[in-house]
Amino acid sequence: MISLDEDLSARLGEIREKGLYRELRRIDSAQCSRIEIGGETFLNFSSNDYLGLASHPALKEATIRALEKFGAGSGASRLICGSLSPHHKLEEALADLKKTEAAVSFSSGYAAALGTICALMGKDDVIILDKLVHASIVDAAKLSGAKLRIFSHNDLDGLVSILRWANGKISTEVSQRPRILIVTESVFSMDGDVAPLKEIVALKNKFGAWLMVDEAHATGVFGKNGAGLISQENLGGQIEIQMGTLGKALGSAGGFVCGSRMLVDFLVNKARSFIFSTAPVPASSAAARAAIEIVQSGMGKKLRDDLHERIRDVLSFLRDENSKNKSAIIPLMVGEENKALEIAAALREKNIFIPAIRYPTVARGAARLRLTISAAHSSDDLTQLKTALRETMEKEIFPHA
Ligand SMILES: *Cc1c(COP(=O)(O)O)cnc(C)c1O
Repeated sequence: MISLDEDLSARLGEIREKGLYRELRRIDSAQCSRIEIGGETFLNFSSNDYLGLASHPALKEATIRALEKFGAGSGASRLICGSLSPHHKLEEALADLKKTEAAVSFSSGYAAALGTICALMGKDDVIILDKLVHASIVDAAKLSGAKLRIFSHNDLDGLVSILRWANGKISTEVSQRPRILIVTESVFSMDGDVAPLKEIVALKNKFGAWLMVDEAHATGVFGKNGAGLISQENLGGQIEIQMGTLGKALGSAGGFVCGSRMLVDFLVNKARSFIFSTAPVPASSAAARAAIEIVQSGMGKKLRDDLHERIRDVLSFLRDENSKNKSAIIPLMVGEENKALEIAAALREKNIFIPAIRYPTVARGAARLRLTISAAHSSDDLTQLKTALRETMEKEIFPHA
């Protein structure tokens, strides 16, 4: 038998050949609008820290206070002895933000998706996903063992035909009916566009399905008080499961699910990624709670106004003001994987950091630079960005010029 390292070397070789090799880049500074790599400073257009909260003084202070009172680690799973007051206070704040009966937090958004979908759905059930949902949801749906159906991105007709098919399986015997769960994102993580939530809610009501919406990139960014796109569209009461992460606009780490008290009680009993995993460190929960406080305050509104002004500024530079994309994620499409890597390297030469996103994060041949905007960027930062983009990828961003 060949050795493990020989086998891996051959497999890594294949990955390299396709322009898909990935490497960690060490950053020697805090995560904010400027980062330090190898002694050089870069303007950071890669982070999901949309409001600049990750290094906000209020979050740091909340972290330090929790660290001093509760120590570094949480000691065990929440059900064993790790259910510390910072976790409970965070969950109260999340339920208040999302206006749901209850909330439960997880160690990551990935763990939230995995635990929730696998707890709710089993082999006799049907899960229906938008083609572009996050890997955590795809992995969860596969692991659940449920029948999996995918509709083209934001394609309501495709969704209807799957719902018709699923309803065809429904027998009159209530106990034998499959559960049907639709999962989508409110803001899509690599395209930055939004789902037609109102229409999807209408369809799930019509066909008797449940709906789970991942608000990873909308929480803190959209809606009154930063509650997200569901809140902005006034759909809170109609969506059974709202999930998200504490690691993006909320500047900390962890994941959450908001919904009915019954849903949360069920997940505490059945979500394996919650039950069989050490509770998040208390300091990260305290930081996330401080972030929610900011997001709901006048300061949060100011940060959101700044962010959306910067987004409009960049979209107008890209001559894309009419785009439906009003989120902080602006994909600059390239196509070929190696070309995207080249452009990213050329931008780094100009001290601009924008990551090239390739398969398997996006489809093969749909490589792109994923530009993200933060309220922490200044207008000078944006001027530098535009100059660098014009110099490195004018052909890609202005193909019709
Ligand atoms: C980042 C992300 C997650 C995972 O959240 P983590 O807290 O980073 O594990 C889930 N869904 C979407 C859409 C995401 O972008």
